[in-house]
Amino acid sequence: MPESRQAFLARRREELFRLLEASYGDLTEVQDVHNATPYGCQRSGHCCKVGLQLHVMECENVARHVLATYEGDPDGLEAVVERLEHALEDESWTWDESVGDHMCAFFEDGCTIYPFRPAICRAYGVVVEVDEWCPRNRLQSGEAFVFAQKETDRMMARLYRTLDNYGRLHPKRDYTVYMPVGVLGFLVDAERLRRLKARTDKKFWRRHKGYRTQHEPSYRHKSSLRTNVKFPFAIPSAPR
Ligand code: SF4
Repeated sequence: MPESRQAFLARRREELFRLLEASYGDLTEVQDVHNATPYGCQRSGHCCKVGLQLHVMECENVARHVLATYEGDPDGLEAVVERLEHALEDESWTWDESVGDHMCAFFEDGCTIYPFRPAICRAYGVVVEVDEWCPRNRLQSGEAFVFAQKETDRMMARLYRTLDNYGRLHPKRDYTVYMPVGVLGFLVDAERLRRLKARTDKKFWRRHKGYRTQHEPSYRHKSSLRTNVKFPFAIPSAPR
């Protein structure tokens, strides 16, 4: 019997979330290699002073894990929802900078969603150049030490292909949004979301078609960013 449209969608969605996990795994392995260099993360938490913008697929992934974590614990889930709603009170946050006065809604003496943190939290400082507030060591030239080579380009292409494919499956969700809004969209009902929208600033509800990336392919960085580290594993090529 041919597969129904609904069964196809469900199967394809699960496939895409598995691919997202695989990309997170790749990034984590690269992050571990980077952390073993003198230029690794110093765990200052400074980079978590951010109001992330994420593709809706990554928001849904966070929401799926949050729902699984708090299954049978409505009070625990409500506390997460309230923290996310509180993120929409950050008056200084701007869409262009992604930074305001608040820490990330998931930061509480460290990342509370570390095993399923988004791609940018794994890529920052590793394949994405750091900002001035990151205290990690720089090269003698003053530039960041990030991995810039064709393997990282392929790894990021694989991640973006997965986001693209999710966008094709769900064109109405093919947007980059303010992370708390995106995650709340999967945690609360439409009426609660509507009331939140009515009482908060429009800036939090902006969206950008597709994904926004801070990763620049290595060929744009040949002159300034270096690595001699060979990854101790093979990064698969991007799926079709
Ligand atoms: S998701 Fe976790 S690692 Fe990423 S900014 Fe938020 S607290 Fe930091």
